[in-house]
Amino acid sequence: MVQQLKHYIGGEWVESTSPATTSVINPATCEVIAQVPEGTREDVDKAVKAAAAAYEEWRMTPILSRAQYMYRFKALLEGRFEDLARIVVEENGKTRDEARGEVRRGIESVDYGMHIPSLMRGFKVEDISSGIDETAERQPMGVFAAITPFNFPFMVPLWFLPTAIVCGNTYVVKPSPQTPLSMQLVYELLDELGLPEGVVNLVHGGKEASMAVMEHPDIVGVSFVGSSPIAKLVYETCAKHGKRVQAQGGAKNYIVVMPDADMNASVLNIMGSAFGCAGQRCLAGSVVVAVGDSYAPLKDELVKRAASLRVGYGMDESSQMGTVISAQARERIESMITQGVQEGATLALDGRGAKISGFEEGSFVSPTILDGVTADMTVARDEIFGPVLAIMQADTFEDAVKLVNSSRYGNAASLFTASGKYAREFKYRINAGNIGINVGVAAATASFPFGGKKESFYGDLHGQGPDAIEFFTDRKVVIERWF
Ligand code: NAD
Repeated sequence: MVQQLKHYIGGEWVESTSPATTSVINPATCEVIAQVPEGTREDVDKAVKAAAAAYEEWRMTPILSRAQYMYRFKALLEGRFEDLARIVVEENGKTRDEARGEVRRGIESVDYGMHIPSLMRGFKVEDISSGIDETAERQPMGVFAAITPFNFPFMVPLWFLPTAIVCGNTYVVKPSPQTPLSMQLVYELLDELGLPEGVVNLVHGGKEASMAVMEHPDIVGVSFVGSSPIAKLVYETCAKHGKRVQAQGGAKNYIVVMPDADMNASVLNIMGSAFGCAGQRCLAGSVVVAVGDSYAPLKDELVKRAASLRVGYGMDESSQMGTVISAQARERIESMITQGVQEGATLALDGRGAKISGFEEGSFVSPTILDGVTADMTVARDEIFGPVLAIMQADTFEDAVKLVNSSRYGNAASLFTASGKYAREFKYRINAGNIGINVGVAAATASFPFGGKKESFYGDLHGQGPDAIEFFTDRKVVIERWF
């Protein structure tokens, strides 16, 4: 039976104020698996009112008690680990192992939430003048919200929610309407947890719900993760409405391979980076820059391995790569591949028109490699967000650095080399937020800040780690004298 989703507001599952719904489609089978409400301004307003009403009492709840909820939340998530991974596969199309990795990473953010009592600290200086002490007290701020993307439907909302609420704020999540089911189960578990009503709220929907979040006068801050044009819109709209904002955008991640690199290890890492999650990771390597003599062995080996990747339904444990998110995404990706060829690239491996036996309607694109790509081509400049790897050549390390830094994005970049000198230069000079040295996917763990540069990030404080504590709290300065 097709699941009819509801919002979770003020501790209850509630119908949307509008009857309009969007179909949630399993991208491998093309079946409709749920109907998600198109949340309205009114729905968002109800959620914000519930969160605002819960705030004063929640911020007065001892921080150790707030953190204790995370221990129980973790246990509930662990108990449903495999169900959560299955739901991620069904709504997103990635493989089961990739979904398990996502669930593990999401739970690590809940682990981080447990440590906030020892991290959410102010500071004090005695005797700033005779008998006068000065303190910076760290305080929660009110209602925060997240607007999140389809590609990590379980993990991304958890980058924010645990830290936000343990810091003493209340919360609203607006997930992607393409993948709302992981949050559905997460909120069922949050409901079981018995948090006070209104501390956590879930409003489904698309553009209208997002705009309502950005413009609502009682939301103090918004965390956004998604494509760059929407990240910019969120940044500007939230700033106009006086909110804190961190908006993580799209990417075009370069991987530079030096001739001295361990070729076998480099190829394995590049495969995982380019084709893991069918290339739908904001940290996916999508351009390889082969320096000097590394080109021929690298290209041959990448093409050979990519051609042998088993593409299939994520629930089939033997699949090594799943689908892209939708039929529209497949069309867009395939037309970008065609455009690459029209602009002069060579198709070393063509993944268009993939048909998987038993899943003929599925949105599959097989691994694709475009060779002879140059900096002026669309496939070198724009985010494709699919299993498409472009190969470029550079004569020297200097030329490669110039190419990487010419991108308008700056989410991640990797270098494969045996040289400490080049590694140091790369870390120092590349203008990206996440750098991998002999690592293909430089994904920050929960206690480190995560975010890019240039058009990959709009804001000041990144997600996760100490930045998240700064984002979700304010410091009030108290100057004190007693007679
Ligand atoms: P998206 O920008 O289409 O959607 C993200 C969110 O914004 C969704 O909740 C969506 O409902 C909402 N939204 C979409 N259009 C809107 C509009 N016009 N007005 C208001 N809200 C709107 O992104 P997506 O396709 O879901 O996700 C893929 C993108 O996310 C890629 O570009 C990827 O690189 C990026 N991403 C970035 C990071 C990061 O950390 N930088 C992480 C994951 C994904």
